[in-house]
Amino acid sequence: MDDTERTIAIIVAAGGGTRAGGAVPKQFRRVGDRALVAHAYHAFAGHSSIDEVLIVVSPGMEGATRQAIGTEIATVVGGATRRESVAHGLAAAAARRATRVLIHDAARPFVPGRVISAVLDALREHKGALPALPVADTLARGDGELGEVVSRDGLWRVQTPQAFRLDAIVVAHAAWPADEEATDDAQMVRRLGGSVALVQGDPVLDKVTYPSDFALAEARASATLRTRTATGFDVHRLEDGEELWLGGVLVPHPQGLSGHSDADVALHALTDALLGTIAAGDIGTHFPPSDPRWRGAESGQFLRHAADLIRAQGGEIDFVDLTIICEAPKIGPHRAAMTVRIAELLSLPAERVSVKATTTERLGFTGRGEGIAAQAVATVRVPA
Ligand code: MG
Repeated sequence: MDDTERTIAIIVAAGGGTRAGGAVPKQFRRVGDRALVAHAYHAFAGHSSIDEVLIVVSPGMEGATRQAIGTEIATVVGGATRRESVAHGLAAAAARRATRVLIHDAARPFVPGRVISAVLDALREHKGALPALPVADTLARGDGELGEVVSRDGLWRVQTPQAFRLDAIVVAHAAWPADEEATDDAQMVRRLGGSVALVQGDPVLDKVTYPSDFALAEARASATLRTRTATGFDVHRLEDGEELWLGGVLVPHPQGLSGHSDADVALHALTDALLGTIAAGDIGTHFPPSDPRWRGAESGQFLRHAADLIRAQGGEIDFVDLTIICEAPKIGPHRAAMTVRIAELLSLPAERVSVKATTTERLGFTGRGEGIAAQAVATVRVPA
């Protein structure tokens, strides 16, 4: 997370997509478990460096897009050409005070977290950055008959997402001649003398354009990710003179949990469950209690770190489920606030976070009010 930056991803989904065949625009065709446009949306929404995702849609397609993605989203109505659509997206990003934008085609459903990180990192030194792959095939001119073979030395296949400093891309769009079409945005920045970095692209970023591409996309959707589930468990002691932090929320209670950090037992169990899905040890491995940095630390940062590790591997968090075990306080009145806070920490929609509570019928240490226990289960999908 870079607190001085505000980063907005703009997904351009306003095209008709007629070359792909089919009755619905291709961005709404299902690939794997979701619509094409939803794959890219979740890749950006799930990345810790992205603050907001805007989807540029054709007029009247706002509702269909929201339904395809399955969560509340921000849409911007596009224009007659790709370039106009991007300009509308940029205006909306500027109004939302973005400092950096990523511009991405909805027809590229699979966006590795590594590529998002790489293009954003390159903006420290450049006005723009894009993923690209070297051309592997022989290139030739021809018109029904083989013409001259073109050297592929120094030639690259340019992909998206393309990342830009907002000010640079806004100026470049405004300066581009009205009668000249541009197939991508980076060339506009380059024409004004702004440097655009090439970073390592990925074959999974290839565009889904023709009917046959859908079969490959379908295979990628099912083969590239494996579901993993893991559990976490934690206990902390209740003591006088402590604040009670539970599920990321300060709960009014005569006693609080004691421990080296803020002792949020619920966030600790969730953190361990998430770390477990990628076999990355436990909370003590990453934040040893012997380290004075974590004295009184807010446990939300432990949870965020676990989520970042999963996403750094190209993984996605599907669902987390938490059970808090105590006699008191009553969790019900705080459940909604905990759900919202955990969803925010994990950059997940709230419907993918479950918070439950139970007592132990006054039995055992939880029943006697000596401590609070929490258990959690996390389900993620990570690259196979
Ligand atoms: Mg703990």
